[in-house]
Amino acid sequence: MLRQTLLFLSAQPRLRHWAETSALAGPLTRRFVAGTTLDDVIRVCTEINGQGIATSLDHLGENVTSAAEAGESRDQALKGLTRIADQRLNSTVSIKLTQFGLDLGTDLCLDNVAPLVERARDIGTRVEIDMESTVYTDRTLEIVTALHQRFGCVRAVIQAYLRRSEADIRLLSEAGIPVRLCKGAYNEDASVAYPEKVQVDENYLRLARLLLEIGNDPALATHDDRMVAAGKGHPADKFEYQMLYGVRRDLQRRLVAEGYRLRLYVPYGDAWYPYFMRRLAERPANLLFLAKSLFRN
Ligand SMILES: Cc1cc2nc3c(=O)[nH]c(=O)nc-3n(C[C@H](O)[C@H](O)[C@H](O)COP(=O)(O)OP(=O)(O)OC[C@H]3O[C@@H](n4cnc5c(N)ncnc54)[C@H](O)[C@@H]3O)c2cc1C
Repeated sequence: MLRQTLLFLSAQPRLRHWAETSALAGPLTRRFVAGTTLDDVIRVCTEINGQGIATSLDHLGENVTSAAEAGESRDQALKGLTRIADQRLNSTVSIKLTQFGLDLGTDLCLDNVAPLVERARDIGTRVEIDMESTVYTDRTLEIVTALHQRFGCVRAVIQAYLRRSEADIRLLSEAGIPVRLCKGAYNEDASVAYPEKVQVDENYLRLARLLLEIGNDPALATHDDRMVAAGKGHPADKFEYQMLYGVRRDLQRRLVAEGYRLRLYVPYGDAWYPYFMRRLAERPANLLFLAKSLFRN
């Protein structure tokens, strides 16, 4: 119930505006967001790389409403890729297609994202295309496939809570497209998504085993010890773990010490509200943590 409420609040534009412009923004987001500027996130990623952990830069934002805004997102992501190359960071970039104009049209979105993927290919990295709600699943996979055919260096994301995901993994793997497997972070109807956590977990484990068998450099994105165990014993050069900046640092350190590859998803920017609310929804105990840190400030 609390999870549903937090996800509902995450989609309220007025609350979002209030929160993102409030003086509480800094203290609230410090735990999960690397800062507001590209300099901030590059500094954080350099430190993380220094600990033997790869990164993926995420310039926060989603659902832009004009072509100009979509173009700004493209320019910001291109700047991120330039800094990755200049600083020789071990980093990909992660993007959400609604930030690049998916709501305005598939062609416009593809035109905005293609230059990024081309630049990523030229500097030897990759663009990871986050998966949003099921309104966008088909169009996202269509764009990922088109980009893979043109440039090769993309990764798709598949959500274990969706009933369709096994079929999608088989299609993407056959096409040679790498997949990041996560549980899924949006509010979905039971007709398309498993409603119970236990079902989502079982499906995650099944899909992780499938990906480790037929996938191309797959990524297991999770902080759940049971899901993490699915990768244990598999050669470390055949897959990577992925986690979110600020979550389960104990587990992050342990996996690196055991010799596994780990990549942290590192968000930055001003448009933090929906991302932040999804993190609270995943673990309502974070509310307590936040209340304490606000009190300290
Ligand atoms: C690298 C990465 C990329 C992702 N990309 C996408 C995407 O493109 N699309 C999408 O829908 N979802 C994405 N997600 C989010 C994902 O779908 C889940 O919502 C999120 O990872 C929580 O699931 P979990 O596997 O960690 O398991 P859970 O069962 O939610 O959590 C297991 C344990 O992990 C810890 N934990 C989990 N979340 C938090 C948190 N926020 N704060 C503190 N502790 C926590 C807790 O100890 C919890 O008990 C991504 C996640 C990661 C790690």
